[in-house]
Amino acid sequence: MTQDQRLSQIADLLTLKADGNYGLSAINQRQHALQCALLAEQAGCPDTLIAAALLHDIGHMVHNLGENPAEDGVDDQHEALGHAFLANWFGPAVTEPVRLHVAAKRYLCATEADYFAKLSGDSVLSLSLQGGPMSAAEVAAFDAMPHAAAAVQLRRFDEQAKVKGLQTPRVAHFMTYVAGCINPPATAAAV
Ligand code: FE
Repeated sequence: MTQDQRLSQIADLLTLKADGNYGLSAINQRQHALQCALLAEQAGCPDTLIAAALLHDIGHMVHNLGENPAEDGVDDQHEALGHAFLANWFGPAVTEPVRLHVAAKRYLCATEADYFAKLSGDSVLSLSLQGGPMSAAEVAAFDAMPHAAAAVQLRRFDEQAKVKGLQTPRVAHFMTYVAGCINPPATAAAV
């Protein structure tokens, strides 16, 4: 697959496969992805983290478990699906925050007293399925990971990116960042 084909496939997922509701909120997956990427852009994050913010829930677009499997008691493991989908095309600066964005919620609930109160209803529901707040040992292990800080930053954007009716740039605007950090097809160089 050429680089253009890879980029088209990603843009198509965000454009055509993202009409499902974002969990139990009143926005769809595409609006959530765009809001998350916009927050990262406005915060002056590196291109890799803006791309990660745009793509962090792509696992929801490549699986068929419905809009909010947590309602049925299912942990969809979308962060692992998303990571697996992205891992051949991007380096760890993009893929690790995606892989760790659910763990980052468990981390923040363990390390910040008021964080749990900021979670939306569906995040609370999925938190228990994902293992609840981290233990002290899990917190220490998470802190030691190279992309832990970026994952925590992405998680904060994720929590805020649920605003009904917010205007954002379109998918094509953020695909520029994605194009800037996708690996060339011939080499698998890490970003
Ligand atoms: Fe999200």
